[in-house]
Amino acid sequence: MEKLLRLAVQAKGRLNEESIQLLEECGVTVEESKRKLVARCGGFPVEVLYLRDDDIPQAVSMGVADIGIVGLNEVEEKGFPVDVLHRLGFGACRLSLAVPKGAGYTGTDWFAGRRIATSYPEILTRYFTSKGIEAHIHQIAGSVEIAPSVGMADAIFDIVSSGGTLVRNGLAEVETVMESQAVVIGNVELGESKLALVKQLLFRFEAVERSRGLKYVLMNLPREKVTEAVSLLPGLKSPTVLPLADEGWCSLHAVIREADLWERIESLKGIGAEDILVLTMEKTIP
Ligand code: ATP
Ligand code: MG
Repeated sequence: MEKLLRLAVQAKGRLNEESIQLLEECGVTVEESKRKLVARCGGFPVEVLYLRDDDIPQAVSMGVADIGIVGLNEVEEKGFPVDVLHRLGFGACRLSLAVPKGAGYTGTDWFAGRRIATSYPEILTRYFTSKGIEAHIHQIAGSVEIAPSVGMADAIFDIVSSGGTLVRNGLAEVETVMESQAVVIGNVELGESKLALVKQLLFRFEAVERSRGLKYVLMNLPREKVTEAVSLLPGLKSPTVLPLADEGWCSLHAVIREADLWERIESLKGIGAEDILVLTMEKTIP
């Protein structure tokens, strides 16, 4: 029987949708059925195991799943031995200490002897130990941000992305302890055939990631403007230039970052580019 790779993915929550979408973009079709614990897949010998994100590091370290997609924050907090194989770039956030506005924060010594509410006691303990600070860490499961206002804590240590939740709760972010994003973790003792499958899957992830934020642009350009056009497209490999039936014109193809797209198009139009087509890129394989 063909070996199946088992991939643990968050069952529901912030990482679920992007994890499944990434698989789909890699040609891996995941059977639609959130009720099931294990979903079969098409297009690649993998099956998806849906778990709470808290359980993914342990499942991978035990070998219940071979690999998993989970936030680096959970990996660090749980401390199970797993290999961090790849950073996925989504689910970006940070773990920060925040204090009530007007608390007179002076520096990390402020935390000495104070009560800090968090769902990440291990990461916080390591941080305070490294700074030589003794504080009282109160582990709570959720709604950490309201702990100071109800008198449960003097400060909090929690996940921050935009910072809006902190502001709404009258808190100020004072120290960033770690930066996190979704990562692929792997069991440390994967056999040769499973490792080969993991490599193939990561190769596909990278091909999709390389195309993010890039557009493929085609246009018609007067032939004598090619050198000028190339100078307007800095930092990229030289564009492809193809002849057109009309000898005075050519077709120019280039890859442009989405962030620069409109500025580049304006300049290209300025030197006579016409019939500009902008295409989405799916995969880039070097
Ligand atoms: P589960 O039910 O699986 O335990 P959860 O409630 O613990 O889910 P989510 O809130 O879905 O977890 O967040 C999952 C991960 O998404 C976090 O561990 C973190 O890595 C990442 N993340 C990114 N931005 C944020 C954010 N603003 N708030 C919380 N998590 C975020
Ligand atoms: Mg969780």
